[in-house]
Amino acid sequence: LPSKLPDIQSSIFTVIGKWANEHKALNLSQGFPNFGADPKLLELVAEAMKAGYNQYAPMEGIYSLREVISEKIHALYGKSYDPDKEITLVAGATQGIFTAITAVVHKGDEVIVFKPAYDCYEPAITLNGGITVPLQMKGREYRIDWEEFRSAITEKTRLVIINSPHNPTGTVLSDNDMKELSAALSGTDVLVLSDEVYEHMVFDGEGQRSVSKYPGLAERSFAMASFGKTFHVTGWKMGYCVAPAYLMKEFRKVHEFNVYAINHPIQRALAQYLSEPKHYLNLSDFFQRKRDLFLEAIAPSRFSFTPSKGTYFQLLDYSGITDEGDVEFARRLIQEKGIASIPISVFNLGNLDQNQLRFCFAKTDDTLYKAAEILNAI
Ligand code: PMP
Ligand code: GLN
Repeated sequence: LPSKLPDIQSSIFTVIGKWANEHKALNLSQGFPNFGADPKLLELVAEAMKAGYNQYAPMEGIYSLREVISEKIHALYGKSYDPDKEITLVAGATQGIFTAITAVVHKGDEVIVFKPAYDCYEPAITLNGGITVPLQMKGREYRIDWEEFRSAITEKTRLVIINSPHNPTGTVLSDNDMKELSAALSGTDVLVLSDEVYEHMVFDGEGQRSVSKYPGLAERSFAMASFGKTFHVTGWKMGYCVAPAYLMKEFRKVHEFNVYAINHPIQRALAQYLSEPKHYLNLSDFFQRKRDLFLEAIAPSRFSFTPSKGTYFQLLDYSGITDEGDVEFARRLIQEKGIASIPISVFNLGNLDQNQLRFCFAKTDDTLYKAAEILNAI
């Protein structure tokens, strides 16, 4: 059978997860918390199920949840999205991203992606006949080179994908970055897909720079959010997409025939839970504390690092330890030292970054101390 994705192998998350299980390694690889969600949220889901919200939800998501999302975005970013025409609930950001790409990318269109890049963008572009144009982010701070970006825009460019806070590097786009992006796209019909699943995990007092905050970008952007990340429930696969009506109209055409509608009782629960901002506004402080705890605990180690500015990931540079490739070193750490992490070369679209591993610090303090003990002894 001719494969539609001939270059795709098993996802690194599956591979590392399997190795980690086999060796019973401390697992800081795939990004998920090893602590539970707020019991109140779980109760709300149970209540919604018992109350009988167990049949199909409306295609675009229940109105009360879209309304709360609209209010939240207005309060945080000052932009009003119409719940009727500009907000759709999705079965996780991965599905939302696939849907947005499918809705706008035609055969032969170019899509600019900054690498390292989260692994779900390129296959979605390829499956839609698009051409991925990768641009390497520069230096250990992983900054975007805006001059290079401007010269990468051609008449075939349909879409640019941004991701801030950024997986796997933990960098965030600055106000200046957003203005550069806006200026570069002004006068073009290039669209933006902004992957903002870590919007509530931005550290050191920096706020999230959502595309929703920048009128020149909001008018051409899909913004994607994930409840899995925000409420410690990655297994729920729930999120939402916002976009101006002309884009959302096309998005919903794909969504309708892809998933039609998503989990109903959880939407009911989220509509109530999300109406209290304290449920997401504390998250940056919560994860910043974990980042600091982890980094202080590994200070004696031979790894070097630039502190993560957002997400729940920290890159550790091991060039002071070995010159092995990152997949090989990650495997050895699992097998010989009992700790699992993600080699970031797999996010690099073919261009190997040999000496960095990604560790997830969405873990109990106890797990983080245990991890530090192992890392300090390497
Ligand atoms: N984008 C990024 C950058 C991510 O790290 C993730 C995490 N899985 C996703 C999208 C997908 O989110 P979801 O689990 O809601 O599909
Ligand atoms: N986003 C998570 C990570 O980067 C999970 C990815 C996945 O399981 N596909 O680790």
